[in-house]
Amino acid sequence: MTAFVSALDLFSIGIGPSSSHTVGPMRAARAFAERLADDGILDRVTRVTCSLYGSLGATGLGHGTPDAVIAGLAGLRPDDCDPDEVRGAWTRLSDDGAEVRVAGRHAVTMTQGDLSLEPRTRLPGHPNAMTLHGWGADDALPLAEETYYSVGGGFIRREGDAVHESEALRHPLPYDTADELLALCEEHGVSLCDVARSNEVAVHGAEGIDAGLDAIWAAMAVCVERGLATEGTLPGGLGVKRRAPEVRRRLEEYDRDEHVRDTSTEWLHAFALAVNEENASGGRVVTAPTNGAAGIIPAVGHYYLRFVPGADAAGIRRYLLTAAAIASLVKKNASISGAEGGCQAEVGSACAMAAGALCAVLGGTPRQIENAAEIAMEHHLGLTCDPVAGLVQVPCIERNAIASSTAVSAARLALHGDGTHLVSLDTVIETMRQTGLDMMTKYKETSEGGLAVNVIEC
Ligand code: SF4
Repeated sequence: MTAFVSALDLFSIGIGPSSSHTVGPMRAARAFAERLADDGILDRVTRVTCSLYGSLGATGLGHGTPDAVIAGLAGLRPDDCDPDEVRGAWTRLSDDGAEVRVAGRHAVTMTQGDLSLEPRTRLPGHPNAMTLHGWGADDALPLAEETYYSVGGGFIRREGDAVHESEALRHPLPYDTADELLALCEEHGVSLCDVARSNEVAVHGAEGIDAGLDAIWAAMAVCVERGLATEGTLPGGLGVKRRAPEVRRRLEEYDRDEHVRDTSTEWLHAFALAVNEENASGGRVVTAPTNGAAGIIPAVGHYYLRFVPGADAAGIRRYLLTAAAIASLVKKNASISGAEGGCQAEVGSACAMAAGALCAVLGGTPRQIENAAEIAMEHHLGLTCDPVAGLVQVPCIERNAIASSTAVSAARLALHGDGTHLVSLDTVIETMRQTGLDMMTKYKETSEGGLAVNVIEC
């Protein structure tokens, strides 16, 4: 099957703090509710239970997974819901129970205990697994049972579902690896972005893909703006203060006197902090390719618009298409899920996407773009996921700022070469996959190792 994943699926507009632990479970719960309705059994359901396994069980509380499940069961969608409606949806149930309107219409009574966190149970399909049951009059036999996997970036897979090939067959320029992608560019004399665009147009049409990309960028821009303007302390109990507004104010002061300093790198950091602080507060965020790593693509895109002469909206479309093409390679041949591959799969992937995409809009050749993405990922190999208190705050927020700088450095370094280099992007993606397999489970979004056990929670 071709590696191609549409930018419109990859960059999905959702809510924080996690694509795999918030957006994915919300979509899975909603899909389950719809199945109950489609199968004609919704009206007989008196109760729904949900078991969150593996990483979903380990860090689900900090990531708002139970709230997301209840909101999804109630029919809410990550892309257009009010984040305030999701926050606290599970907490409000209490032990006495409260009404949940499954699929938005059928009332059942649920308690907090109807959701169970089972971190020690790991299903073979994926570390992020959840099983939902719909119960009727007979307590011994559920009316319906489904298992879903939240496989990273908000994508879900239902146990037993076949992988659909039909969509892939519609792509005129299919590729599985970076080598194949480069060969397509050479064979047709086109850019990497052109390959991605041809595949997108075949599925969405020219107007559809342009409108979709513009909507994605608009959502990213709103997120940056909101993050730069919103003061306060992030939820969750760690007492982490939002830093983006303060950094913004200081940089605006520096910029008033243009001789003070070059602020481009600091703005880059501010953009990333803004997005990840929005994400940590459960706000509206675009997965890129995940929520935990959502700051890097918008930050580098804003850096491009603000500091690169001649940058424009058409460049941002090319930037997003190139980034999505790189993400497709990682998703197909390794993973974009922190629970599967550690943070190298999230922040490392986002950094590679941004580096290659920036290189593209700075005029890089396909081989230079491939080189930039490779440099960015190579220096994230082995990066673990160990969020303190299971919250997507420490180290995640700063990590996005630093990775944004790495992406810019990787793009600029690659532009100094001719694209010839020793380690290929395919090799580094495969190395990331193997490193993820070798990584101990405690470093893969369980909060059982690393910073998560060495930082004292107040
Ligand atoms: S440490 Fe990395 S992979 Fe883990 S939650 Fe934070 S950003 Fe995501």
